[in-house]
Order: sequence, then C-alpha cells, then structure tokens
Amino acid sequence: MDNKLKAANELIDFIYESPNSYHAVSSIKKILLENGFSELQDDDRWQIERGGRYFAVKNGSAITAFVAGLGDVSEKGFRMIGAHTDSPGFRIKPSPEINAEGAYVKLNTEVYGGPILNTWMDRPLAAAGRVTVESGDVMKPEVMLVNFRKPILVIPNLAIHMNRNINTGIELNRQKDVLPLMATISENLESGSCFIKALAEELDVPEKKILDFDLFLYEYEKGCVTGIRDEFISSGRLDDLLMVHAGVMALVESGESDSTKVLVCFDNEEVGNTTKQGADSALLATVLERITLSMGIGREDYFRALSRSFMISCDLGHALHPNYAEKCDPVNKPVINRGPIIKISANQSYTTDAVSGAVFEGICRKAGIPVQKFVNRSDERGGSTIGPVTASLLNIKTVDVGTAVLAMHSIRELAGIDDYLHTIKAFAEYYKI
Ligand code: ZN
Repeated sequence: MDNKLKAANELIDFIYESPNSYHAVSSIKKILLENGFSELQDDDRWQIERGGRYFAVKNGSAITAFVAGLGDVSEKGFRMIGAHTDSPGFRIKPSPEINAEGAYVKLNTEVYGGPILNTWMDRPLAAAGRVTVESGDVMKPEVMLVNFRKPILVIPNLAIHMNRNINTGIELNRQKDVLPLMATISENLESGSCFIKALAEELDVPEKKILDFDLFLYEYEKGCVTGIRDEFISSGRLDDLLMVHAGVMALVESGESDSTKVLVCFDNEEVGNTTKQGADSALLATVLERITLSMGIGREDYFRALSRSFMISCDLGHALHPNYAEKCDPVNKPVINRGPIIKISANQSYTTDAVSGAVFEGICRKAGIPVQKFVNRSDERGGSTIGPVTASLLNIKTVDVGTAVLAMHSIRELAGIDDYLHTIKAFAEYYKI
C-alpha cells in the first residue's frame, strides 16, 4: 500500500473509533499518550517544563494539547491550530423508547446541529457516547464511554408507492419522520426498558445504577477510499475530524522549538460554540494563561505572548460540485486535491484578512504545497466556524482554513486523499516556525 493510502486509512480508522466528541477525545488521548504527552488535570497545580508535552481535557469532549516552547513564551508566543470534535447528527432523548402501534419500538431522538437528514435514511445505525452511573459520591457520578459496536437502528424511508413525491423533494419532520426503528414488540420484550437494558448489558452495570447519558447515533458502516484512481475519502465526520487528526499528527511528529505549539479541539461547534467546552468560552484562554503562569510569567507577559501568537482555525470548506458549478463564486472555485483553502468573508464569518491569509499562504509556499481560496457566492450566506469567536476572545491574529469537501454535513462526506496530506504538511511547516 502506498503512503497516501496508508495515511488515508489511518484517518478512516481514527474517525471510525471516534463516533462522537467523547470518543474523539478518547482517540486523541490514545495517540498523545503513545507519543510521550502527559495529562494535566484542571484541579491540579500545573508544572510545565520547557520542551515538555502535555494535554488537558475538558468535559471529556474537548482537548488542548501542547508542546511547551524552549524559548521565553512572552517573546515567542503560541503557534496554535484549532478544530472541533463534534459533528451533526442525532442525539438520543431521555426515556427514549416509543411504542409504535403496539408493533414496533422506535427510539426518540433529536437533531444535533445541521445534518442532511435524508442521508441518514435506510442505513444501519449504531449508537455511542457517555453514560453516567451511580458512584456513591453524588457530586461525582462515574462517567463511562459506551459504543454499541453493531448496527442496532434504522430510519426507514416511506415506500415510493406511498409517497409519489419522494423524488421531487419532501420535507422531513424532525419529530415524526426520522425516528429510528429498534425492535418489534413481542411477548418477551419489556416495552419501555429495552434500550436501557441493552445499555446496562453493554456497560456491565445494573440498570438502576444508570443515571443519565449523552448518546448519539452514527452510521455503522466504516468509511473508505473511493474513486477509480483511489483519490477520495468517503466517510462520516470528516467535518471536522479530518482536521483534528491532521493537527494531532503534525503536533506529535513535530520536534522541539522556541515557540509553544498548541492544538485545541473544541466541542459544540455545530451548535454555536457557547458551552464550557466550546470555542466561545474561557477554555483556551485559561489553558494558555495557566501555561504562562506555571512558567513563572505574569499577566502582562501573558498578553505580550498573545500579541506574538497566531491561530490557524481549521474546518472543512466547500469544493466545486460537479453537478452544481453555479453554486460557487464565479472566480474562486476550490477543487478537491488541489490544496488547503483559505476562507474569506466580507462579513467576517471567517477571520482571514490580508495579513493572516498571507501568513498561511507563506506557510504553504514554504511547505511546497498548493493553496486555494474560498469565498461564498455574494448571494449565499455560507457557514461559519470557530475562528471568529476564538480570535475575538483572545485578540490574536487568526486565519480560517479548510479542506475542500463535497456533501458537507451528509452522513458521508467526500474529501481528497492529497488534500489530507497537504494539510498535514502545512501544519508541520507551521509548527517548525
Ligand atoms: Zn465543521
């Protein structure tokens, strides 16, 4: 297998082991621990050594990893990469079982973020996330990760014979049309507790000890490399785990340098960032200040460090679509496998300006990789990402970059193998500076 395919398959394996933000953080932790990073706890006094490798987890679903610089942080600043661990999909509601006509058990879910709903139909689905269990200490319930590693649910389409309009566009109601089927009702099925029972079995704890859960659905089938010349990666959650994985790979493989290298992976980008583990919070500022404090540097020098820092905010971007070329800006049309994209927006839904864009362009030139630019069509609103909130909270220079994909927020997104490698190269170059 050539190197490109090997790297793409590593990414696909990583995404498969990361069906939600909790498992994503667990997968990231595993790679960091294998590469000499040690965990810092929020409630400990941090002792950071220059050149040391560390990470801190928030809420089990966000993580900041860093390599402390050899130089004075107030002189050398932070080289940061930001991405997000969450992806749009379905979250399981409390007391989730619904009896359908005395015939079926379906699961009550709500939509998380903005998935393309119809891509979730007729696919075998699994569920995973975290469960809280009685521990004896009311303030500290035990948190357990769970992953049903088998297809347990399907959201069936209505047959075309019962909906003749199905191919001309139908609206899917989030409470009625997208609830997944779990089982048929029979004599030996206790209606109302089937799911919790399966959960207790999966965790090997008594049912009554389960207190609560944050559980999400995911497509059971694994992603794959596709295209007649193996050029594409087809997988769920490329947004934003492709960037998360590229960032982790670049950080663990980077050597020591004068500046402090940081990778921050926030949760809850898909629902607006405003949680304690999201980008619109004190999370990153707190970690950065604690790094400087533990190096014996005061608040004035912390602000000096910020003024010398830079952030690459990384999320996916839209590629030119082969069937919808008219959806692109007439001039700037990013194509899959032609390099990372710098995202620009007049209304500042992306942070890039001529200075931060030039820095990223310079990094790509140094790394010997191509780079593209993305702007929305002037009559399209487009999306946003973690860049603007992070930049405004920390008051630092930031660029928004992406990898060109098709079908963003589908259960299966499509990215390019070369772009994944380009991204790692760009990050590696940046961490060398
Ligand atoms: Zn994203």
